[in-house]
Amino acid sequence: SSESGRVLSIQSHTVQGYVGNKSAVFPLQLLGFDVDPINSVQFSNHTGYPTWKGQVLDGEQLWSLIEGLEANNLLFYTHLLTVCDPVMGDEGKLYIKPELVPLYKDKVVPLASMLTPNQFEAELLTGCSIHSEADALEACKKLHGAGPSKVVITSLDINSDLLLIGSHLENEEDAPKQFLISMPKIPAYFTGTGDLMAALLLGWSYKYPNSLETAAELAVASLQAVLERTLLDYNAAKVQPEVKQLELRLIQSQEQIKHPIVEFHAKRF
Ligand code: ADP
Ligand code: PLP
Ligand code: ZN
Repeated sequence: SSESGRVLSIQSHTVQGYVGNKSAVFPLQLLGFDVDPINSVQFSNHTGYPTWKGQVLDGEQLWSLIEGLEANNLLFYTHLLTVCDPVMGDEGKLYIKPELVPLYKDKVVPLASMLTPNQFEAELLTGCSIHSEADALEACKKLHGAGPSKVVITSLDINSDLLLIGSHLENEEDAPKQFLISMPKIPAYFTGTGDLMAALLLGWSYKYPNSLETAAELAVASLQAVLERTLLDYNAAKVQPEVKQLELRLIQSQEQIKHPIVEFHAKRF
């Protein structure tokens, strides 16, 4: 689309480092979007560190910001990005209170046009465990049934590779177009990747509304470039890449975010 998008991005903010809005706003701006961040929390740093401090925005505070925007007719966004990805959890651990899971399932998911859960989040939202590509494709269909026409399970840890599974329900009559992108698993733990992935998928799918495959290939390409750069910098600084305190090298990767070179291609099912 030639019209530039305007994104309202409701996500975490960290003072130091790159997760939530800190890993979504800059990349979307690089892709030409106007981005207005609302910080759902303000923490000192991300949850990979031994400790974090800060404040959580409550419902009333969020609502007052929305009211202020509305009162001035400023709610003219093309996109709302509130990452149904990182807010829930990862690697078998919930970040949110368990009693909120049904609320996500019944109230939030039906409103989304695109959903980008990781494996654990897809399992929570569908109530099905995912052990194979077939399970993941079924889970996508189930999630389409709840509302979103685009679903991307951002990572499946099935063999030694990492799989991204995409599914686009173009119309209710036909089966969804489903594909996978396989990439080598980098032996390191990154934080903020889910948020970056969701932002890039939003950005590229606005530019390629009829090809979720192309959008996903471009998003994966930028992401892999960011992770490579991140490892390179940490290795140069002789930091063990096993630690969970890696920070994505976003600023240093801006060229690869703007102009990704696709290396891992989508395969249709
Ligand atoms: P989250 O951080 O929310 O759990 P994911 O783990 O699915 O999200 O990561 C999002 C994307 O980041 C994946 O689709 C993949 O492209 C990339 N990624 C994350 N961790 C790795 C890794 N260890 N090796 C290769 N790619 C990774
Ligand atoms: N730490 C904080 C404070 C976060 O808000 C988030 C996600 O928003 C994370 C860590 C994890 O990010 P991700 O799932 O993208 O790795
Ligand atoms: Zn996440």
